[in-house]
Formats: sequence, C-alpha cells, structure tokens
Amino acid sequence: MALTLDNYFAAGWRDQLHSCPACEWKGTARQMSMELHEDEAEFDCPVCENPILLVVHPSLAQVQAAAADGHPEAIEQLEILASVPRPD
Ligand SMILES: [Zn+2]
Repeated sequence: MALTLDNYFAAGWRDQLHSCPACEWKGTARQMSMELHEDEAEFDCPVCENPILLVVHPSLAQVQAAAADGHPEAIEQLEILASVPRPD
C-alpha cells in the first residue's frame, strides 16, 4: 500500500527516506521513478516498481495558499496559470 501525500507543497517530502514494502530498497522520491496520473503523481520503487508514494496534485486553493506563504514553486505555478488563455 503506497503512502498518499495530499499536500504537494509540504516541506521536504522529496528528501524523506522511504523503504519499499516489497523489497529491501531504501531511498527518497528523487531516486524513484515517477508516473503521472490524472489525479496524482505516483513514485515507484526503482528496483521492483512497487508504488511507494502517491502525491495528489495540488488544488488551485492549495497553490494559492502556498504562494501566499512564499513557496517559490507555487508562485511559479500561479504565474504559469495566469499566462494560460482561458477558453471562454
Ligand atoms: Zn521495491
């Protein structure tokens, strides 16, 4: 069972040490292979491909809250969103 993280902007999750429940591998999300899904990013064990971490995509409210807290990645995402022409 993969661990679900519902706050993409939580500090330091990329550097947290995880161990694979299926094999002996230990490492951080930076070393895992990532698969993008519609609602989340899935991080898999690089050895046995067992899903270890699911990171739910941030909602607009979460991006705005994180940007207001000065999170650089959130600020960047808001700028990207602002530059996308709205279909109306
Ligand atoms: Zn594994």
